[in-house]
Amino acid sequence: MNAAPPDQTDVVVIGGGPAGLIASLLLDQWQVEHILVEAQAQPGDHPQAHFINCRTMEIFRELEIDGEIRQAAAPLDEWRRYVYGTNLVGLPRSDSSHNAASSALLGQVDHFPSGPDHGISPAWECNLSQHVLVNLLREVAVRRCPGVLLDGWRAEVHENRKGVNVLLKSTTNGQSHNLRCRYVICADGAHSTSRKALGIGRIRRTPTLQDLLNIHFFSPELAKLLRRRLMAMLYFIYAPQGIGVFVTHSLERGEFVLQLPFFPPFENPEDFDQRTCAAMIDHLVGRPVESQIRSIRPWRLEAWVAERFRSRRGRCFLIGDAAHQLLPAGGFGMNAGIADAHNLVWKLARRLKAQRRQGGSDADSLLATYEAERRPVNEALIALSRKNFEKTLEVAAAIGLDWRAARWLRDVLHRLPLPAAARKRIFDTILLLGRKQVHLLQSDNAIGRFRRRRVRALFETSRTLPMRFQREDLGTVYHCGWLQPRADGDRQHRAGGILLPTFEAGARIPHFRLQESGSGERRQISSLDLAPIMGREHGEPIHVLMVFGQAAEPFPELAGQIPTQFEPFKVVHIGNAAGGRWPADFTIADDASPAVSLPRAALLRPDGHLAWVLPRGGPGPSGP
Ligand SMILES: Cc1cc2nc3c(=O)[nH]c(=O)nc-3n(C[C@H](O)[C@H](O)[C@H](O)COP(=O)(O)OP(=O)(O)OC[C@H]3O[C@@H](n4cnc5c(N)ncnc54)[C@H](O)[C@@H]3O)c2cc1C
Repeated sequence: MNAAPPDQTDVVVIGGGPAGLIASLLLDQWQVEHILVEAQAQPGDHPQAHFINCRTMEIFRELEIDGEIRQAAAPLDEWRRYVYGTNLVGLPRSDSSHNAASSALLGQVDHFPSGPDHGISPAWECNLSQHVLVNLLREVAVRRCPGVLLDGWRAEVHENRKGVNVLLKSTTNGQSHNLRCRYVICADGAHSTSRKALGIGRIRRTPTLQDLLNIHFFSPELAKLLRRRLMAMLYFIYAPQGIGVFVTHSLERGEFVLQLPFFPPFENPEDFDQRTCAAMIDHLVGRPVESQIRSIRPWRLEAWVAERFRSRRGRCFLIGDAAHQLLPAGGFGMNAGIADAHNLVWKLARRLKAQRRQGGSDADSLLATYEAERRPVNEALIALSRKNFEKTLEVAAAIGLDWRAARWLRDVLHRLPLPAAARKRIFDTILLLGRKQVHLLQSDNAIGRFRRRRVRALFETSRTLPMRFQREDLGTVYHCGWLQPRADGDRQHRAGGILLPTFEAGARIPHFRLQESGSGERRQISSLDLAPIMGREHGEPIHVLMVFGQAAEPFPELAGQIPTQFEPFKVVHIGNAAGGRWPADFTIADDASPAVSLPRAALLRPDGHLAWVLPRGGPGPSGP
C-alpha cells in the first residue's frame, strides 16, 4: 500500500517494526493524527524475536489484539521448555518420562510447571515469531487506521525551532515528499538513521561478546521428529562437531533458526554457505534431515544505549532498538521497545490535547519523564541480559567447553607473527579438540562422571537461563517521573522491580477483577482496564482516582488535594463485595480480592502505573 503522503500531521512514527507499529496503534487509540512510515514495502520474513512477555500481552489486550495474536501463536506445550542435549534425535520420546535416561539429554527445564499465572494478570506470555507478529500488526494498522501506514518510503528527520520536517523518499519510484509535524517517534531500529541525523550517539554497554549466524530454515521432517520428542522453544546442542541453539519458530510450519557462534577473523560468514550450514544442521540434529535454508545472516551480540532518548530541541523521541540494543538472552528487546511506546504515547497524546486547549502553553515536563522513566529500566535490562548471557555459558563450561578460553585463544593467536593460514589451522585444531570434550561427557571415567555431576547440579540448583522474568516484566517500578516521591526520598531506579503485586507509586497496579455496579449489563473487567476504558470514554488518556469503598472520606476534599498536573482525572469508587457506605461504580469481584491490602485511594496513570497511593491512615497527598 503506497498511498499519497499528506503534507502535515501531528506525529510521524518512523519505522514499522514492533515498536513503531504499537506506537501507531496506541496513537490511534488516543485519536492522535499521525503517519507511520516504513521503508520496506513488504515486511521481511527473517525471524528474530519470538517471546512475548506478559506485560506486552497486557498492552496487546488493551489494544484488543491479544486474541488474534494468541490464535496465531503455538500452544504452550510446544514452547514451555528449554532443552539441553548433545543432539536432537537422541532426546527422550514425548511419551516417556522426561527424566528417562537418554544419552543425548543433558537437562531440561519446564518454565511453566504449573501453567500460566492467571492470578497476577489478565494476560499471559505468548510465543510468536516477530515476522508473523509484524505482519499481523500491519494488517491491524491498515484495518483500523486506513491511510496511516505509508510503506515503501524512507524517512529523514530534520528538526528546527518550529517543528520537524520529515523528508520522505520512495524506495520504489524515487519520488520525494516533505511532511511537517509536531513530534516524531523514531522507531527505526538499531541502525537508526534518525538517531544519527539528530546527532545522538551510542554508549557501549558491552564489547562484542560473540559473533553469531542465524540460519533460518524450514524442515517439516525435523518438526515431525521433535513433535515425538521433548518439545521446546530452545534446544541448546553441544555436539563434537559444533555448538548451536535451535529456536523453534513453528512446528506447524516446520520453521526453525539455528544460531551458530563463529570466531572472526578465523571464521567468517562467507565460510558458511548453504551446504556447510545444512551439514551443520544434520550434525547437531544427529542424523541427516531434509531442510530448506531460507537465509543465513550474521549478527553481533553486543549491547549499547543511546546518549539521549529525546532530541535536544525536544520534538523527537527514540524508542525500541533505536534507543537501546539489548542482548537477546532473556528475550527483552522487542518487549522493551513496546513498553517504551506504551510509556511515551499517552504522554504525547496528553501534551497535544493540552496544547490544543491552551494554545500551546502546557508545560513540557510530562514529556521529559519518558526518558527519566525508561532509561533506567532499559539500562537494568541490559545488565540482566548480560547476566543471562553468562548463564548460557555455564552448561558449556560444565561440559568442559570454555567460551572465555576460546575467545582468549582467538585473540592471542590473532596477534602471533605467523602466516594467516597457519594461524587458522592452529585455531581450527584447538576448536576441534575443545569440542571433543563432549565425548568425555559420555565416557565412564572419573572426568566423565565429574562433568555429568556438574551438569546435573546446574539443573538441580536452577542455575540455567530462565524464560520468564516476572520481576522485570510485571514488577517494573518507575521512580523518576511525575510520581509521588518515595517516603525514603530515593529516586533511583531499583533494578529488578518488585515481585509481589503492591500498591506503590510507580508500580503497575495489581491485577484484580472488578464488577461494574448498577443495572443493565454488568461487565467484569481487570483493574488494569480502568484507565484505558475511562480514557477512551473521555476521548484522551486520563488519570483515574480510585477511591476504595470503605474509605468513608469526604471525597471532594480528597480529590481537591490531587495536584493540578494530573487533571483531568476521573474519579471511580470501588466497593468491596461486602458493600460499602458509598455508592460504588465497581465492586471487587467476590472471589477475586487482590492479594494486597487496599489503600484509601490511588491515582492510576493512563498506562496502568500508579502515580499516587494514599495509604490507609497515612497523610494526604503532596506535590512531586
Ligand atoms: C536473534 C534474535 C533474537 C531475538 N529474540 C527476542 C525475543 O525473543 N524477545 C524480544 O523481546 N526481543 C528479541 N530480540 C530483539 C528484537 O528482535 C528487537 O529488539 C526488535 O526487532 C526491535 O524492534 P524495533 O521495532 O525497535 O526495531 P526493528 O524491528 O528493527 O524495526 C525497525 C523498522 O524501521 C524500518 N526503518 C529503518 N529505517 C527507516 C527509515 N529511515 N524510514 C522508514 N523506516 C525505516 C525498518 O525497515 C524496520 O521495519 C531478538 C533479536 C535477535 C537478533
